[in-house]
Amino acid sequence: MIAKEMPLEFPLPPVAQRVEALNARYRHHSATEVLKSALSDPMTGQVALVSSFGAESVVLLHMISVMDRTTPILFVDTELLFPETLSYQEELAERLRLTDVRRIVAKDIAERDPYGALRFSDTDACCSLRKTEPLQNALSGFDAWITGRKRFQNGTRAALDFFEADGDARIKINPLAHWAPEDVRDYMDNNRLPRHPLVAQGYPSIGCAPCTSKVKDGEDPRSGRWRGADKTECGIHMQDGKVVRQSPAVGHEKG
Ligand code: SF4
Repeated sequence: MIAKEMPLEFPLPPVAQRVEALNARYRHHSATEVLKSALSDPMTGQVALVSSFGAESVVLLHMISVMDRTTPILFVDTELLFPETLSYQEELAERLRLTDVRRIVAKDIAERDPYGALRFSDTDACCSLRKTEPLQNALSGFDAWITGRKRFQNGTRAALDFFEADGDARIKINPLAHWAPEDVRDYMDNNRLPRHPLVAQGYPSIGCAPCTSKVKDGEDPRSGRWRGADKTECGIHMQDGKVVRQSPAVGHEKG
């Protein structure tokens, strides 16, 4: 376990001030150094990793397992995931000996979406109910969360920093911000990490089963998510308080 020193100031300084200081401090550091700092620097406070156990999630999960496998890992189960994702989650937790994987499920699905049909009329409302709201609740005890977002994934992420403000309450930490698709692939190969079983079946980006389709050779890897819809993010990652809507560029994982 990585010991975190007590913050120099308590309560912690404002989020924006800490984000600026952390980006200045770790600007030229590697992904693993940024992740280590996320777990050890007093300025980040209490930290959780948020993981979808999707196509590229194993990279950060493996890094965490080496640095501190007791780190809380929040896994949002929308109850509409592929069965393969659920079994992959269990396989990785056991293989990497992760001791604090927390399965997050919205408590009010039965009242607000009793027939599982909300996604047909309003995908934003469905993502809000099943992903964004339960995650926000689960994050309430944390000062920062680690994400697997990368600059190459689309235009809205092109200027992604290692540390960014998530409103006034929390910091988002993106250790892989500067990684290219080849870096992800090399890390998995070099560490012989198991792939999500659906990747080999034509799913380079994996979310809920009803909103994820196969991707053909030559297609944008993200094109299988909400195919044909004007939607590229689930709302977990917002900009200026709004769900990001932008034409997908290159990338693998949607939020
Ligand atoms: Fe609902 Fe689709 Fe969003 Fe999953 S990805 S929460 S099924 S709209």
